[in-house]
Amino acid sequence: MLISTVVPCYNEEKVLSLTYNELSEELRNITEDYEIIFIDDGSRDGTLSLLKEFADGDTHVRYISFSRNFGKESAMLAGMRYSSGEFTVIMDADLQHPPELIAQMLEYARQGCDQVIAQRDRTGDRKLGSFFARMYYRLVDRLTDVELTDGIGDFRMLSRKALDALLTMNEYNRFSKGLFSWIGFKEKIIRYQNRSRAAGESKWNFGSLVRYGVDGVLSFNNKPLRFCIFIGAFAIVISLLYVIFLLLGIIFKGIDMPGYFTTIFTICLFGGVQLISIGIVGEYVGRIYYEVKRRPHYLVDETNFSDKNKK
Ligand code: UDP
Ligand code: MG
Repeated sequence: MLISTVVPCYNEEKVLSLTYNELSEELRNITEDYEIIFIDDGSRDGTLSLLKEFADGDTHVRYISFSRNFGKESAMLAGMRYSSGEFTVIMDADLQHPPELIAQMLEYARQGCDQVIAQRDRTGDRKLGSFFARMYYRLVDRLTDVELTDGIGDFRMLSRKALDALLTMNEYNRFSKGLFSWIGFKEKIIRYQNRSRAAGESKWNFGSLVRYGVDGVLSFNNKPLRFCIFIGAFAIVISLLYVIFLLLGIIFKGIDMPGYFTTIFTICLFGGVQLISIGIVGEYVGRIYYEVKRRPHYLVDETNFSDKNKK
């Protein structure tokens, strides 16, 4: 198999036929030796029946259907596990990732690039959204050891080597933007103009984006924990200085009425600092809890692959 295309789909019935047609046409122009792996991530609309229809009429089409919605990360993982291609493309189902780029990706991949990454610009994005995104990437760069770049998502072509490297990482909390960057290997970035979704709605809202953002920071290192230690140390130094200052006052001026305001202020401030620190520790403990359970990332309900429980 030359090219495997992994396409996670969650409630995508409105756009799926369009995607399937465009993608197949593009791939047919490149080679006959391809497969399209659709992962139905527990969709509640007609996604699965559409996928079965495609598969009935086209031997290039594979589908894996989850028992419920496990999230895009799990869907991508399943697709990557089942991929048998020399090169694997990961792309969204909503045509925001233009299939036309695949030919160009293949060229670079054949020249030896292990990850050919498509980077979108921000045309048509809401100003506020892209502002927050830029701030976020700056913050993550500071806070973690992996490098994330604005506009780079999951759309990319992976060589067998890069794919196998990704599959060795079996963590439960997957943050693939970080994982992709973590494995390294030869990279090539190609740019494309941002597109809006061809049909259907985005699955993201503000809350899920914030959660995703926190995941990104926490799943890659323990710097936030160290940050708590620094805040603690800083607070101790400040309060020591303050105590010395008060003590000198007592020695030289005698005892005067202690300040109610400063006392309450300090209690509130350090109460807050402590709670936040405990919260950060708790986030890590929570993640460890999920990791040690070693639950599978997803459960397959139906598939036209012969091996239903591929690891
Ligand atoms: N997706 C998925 N499982 C989910 C949410 C999303 O497989 O729980 C898929 C979705 O079908 C699409 C891709 O992930 O192919 C990106 O989702 P979406 O277009 O909603 O995100 P956006 O482009 O708005 O970031
Ligand atoms: Mg989209």
